[in-house]
Amino acid sequence: MKMDLTLKKIKNLIDNAESILITSHKSPDGDSVGCSLGLFHFLKKLNKSVNICHPDKAPLFLNWAKGANEIICNDINPDKVKQCFLNADLIFCLDYNAPNRLGLEMGNLLLHSKTKKILIDHHPDPCIDAELLISDVSRSSTSELICELIVQLGYENLLDSSISEPIYMGMVTDTGSFRYPSVSKRTHELVSCLLNSGLEHTKVYSQIFDNNSIERLKLRSFAICNKLEILSDYPCGIISLTKQELDRFNYKKGDTEGLVNVILSLEGIKVGVILLENEEGIKMSFRSKEEFFVNEFARNNFNGGGHKYAAGGFSSKKMEETLHLLRSLISQIF
Ligand code: 5GP
Ligand code: MN
Repeated sequence: MKMDLTLKKIKNLIDNAESILITSHKSPDGDSVGCSLGLFHFLKKLNKSVNICHPDKAPLFLNWAKGANEIICNDINPDKVKQCFLNADLIFCLDYNAPNRLGLEMGNLLLHSKTKKILIDHHPDPCIDAELLISDVSRSSTSELICELIVQLGYENLLDSSISEPIYMGMVTDTGSFRYPSVSKRTHELVSCLLNSGLEHTKVYSQIFDNNSIERLKLRSFAICNKLEILSDYPCGIISLTKQELDRFNYKKGDTEGLVNVILSLEGIKVGVILLENEEGIKMSFRSKEEFFVNEFARNNFNGGGHKYAAGGFSSKKMEETLHLLRSLISQIF
């Protein structure tokens, strides 16, 4: 952030807004929920009328923080979401870089909205027509950026558990518990601000990670035991799960969260891919390390994108066909 000017501008935009809408990307993760709720409670403390609209609901292990049940989901309540877009005099775009990350319906609402927008994000190549862009790929998470903003605006004294818990959730989940290269000295300094405000970090950690159902654990065991393929020519592991297999373990959204990182934990493996089949097609998650990047690969081949080391994509082909295509293209990464 070029601090002085950006801070002045954002302060002005917030001061002049009464009704503020916070939006974030589809298939919410810990960061999108965390930064949305952190900003939500902060703006409420500034006496703003605030709504959060997400395309769909987050899984339970990310949906426990104060205010989570107030998030309006477009797949359940599209009329209310439309109303929020109409009523807002300021829109925050958090943790995404392009309208299509909101899905077709919400993406169109954003594209056609004349309301002033502020983008706060850490993905590359922002392409949202906003009054103010705070796009910083060097940051661990959008939650870190929200925390930085609150501190730099001089409102550290407003931090309380309603703000610090979701922000910490976003930071923990987007950094793989503070182990990815995106973690910086500043990340830890900001965590220190959260701890100063009384954050109970073990409580947050437990809410996220000590929440397994037996079916979730069994699905993960099955995936590792029976569905993990290590490519012979490249240091890459792939897990694929068909809808039928997922159904067998009563799959709920979020049950495979983090499983792709288990692939990367294998000795010598540099790229992990997980493919999950649902009614619409196959959702793909890519993770990598060191000099191997996956975002361009996902963008060029699987209608996706993301960060250098963590990206997503989609295939509308059948599972076997998608796997075949993936294996035939994987050399592009290496
Ligand atoms: P995940 O594998 O957890 O769904 O996503 C990993 C990262 O890639 C996240 O930062 C997410 O924002 C990004 N990502 C996931 N799916 C897509 C996609 O379809 N398009 C783009 N541009 N980014 C994605
Ligand atoms: Mn993020």
